[in-house]
Amino acid sequence: MMQADVKAAAIENFQENRDGFVVELNKLSEGQTGGRWVPQIQTYLRKIFYTLSMWTLIREGSEKEGNCFEERCNNLMVLIEEISDSVRVILSTNADLMTTIEDPVLMKLFGMLSMQVGSLTLHGLSDEDTEAVESAKMVEREQRRWELKLFEEDDERRNYLRMIWARLYYKVHDCPCRQCCDFYLPTEEPTPSPPLPDLPEEEYYSSTTSSSSEED
Ligand SMILES: [Zn+2]
Repeated sequence: MMQADVKAAAIENFQENRDGFVVELNKLSEGQTGGRWVPQIQTYLRKIFYTLSMWTLIREGSEKEGNCFEERCNNLMVLIEEISDSVRVILSTNADLMTTIEDPVLMKLFGMLSMQVGSLTLHGLSDEDTEAVESAKMVEREQRRWELKLFEEDDERRNYLRMIWARLYYKVHDCPCRQCCDFYLPTEEPTPSPPLPDLPEEEYYSSTTSSSSEED
């Protein structure tokens, strides 16, 4: 059990902490590490992980707006661990990328994570949490973009991102919150995201997505 005063403080600071994560994850998605090297990026992801873990406890015994919040946190925790592994694998094979991230897959992963963390809200039954509503709308636009992208045109990287996104895009059946009830679906088709830029080398990436192709 979490102490009442700890819980109250966590609820009070919830939006500020969440929005702080969004700012940092957005920077990472633009390739800016803020001077962090791989271990520090992983430490930062750990910090988000532990915060999400704490967030799964803060609604205990209090009124809940929807029932998906804790499940969304748990789902994100699993994916953050996987993304943290990808950071280590992708960046450690590219020593020259230690202070900026240039890998388009990794940048995209951080962008996806940012909108999902940003859409977490304690006010699921209203539009009161405006930042979360904006993130939730971004999530739905991103989902729509994936629906419009043809599977058969996926390369290895896009297929990997599609699989990660499918797990990030999370709704709970029977949850009455606005996100689970599709309140934020786009009203017009979103502009497609640009194609992934060519990679300088192809070999290093394959190690993160499959264990099969080692023939070179
Ligand atoms: Zn919900």
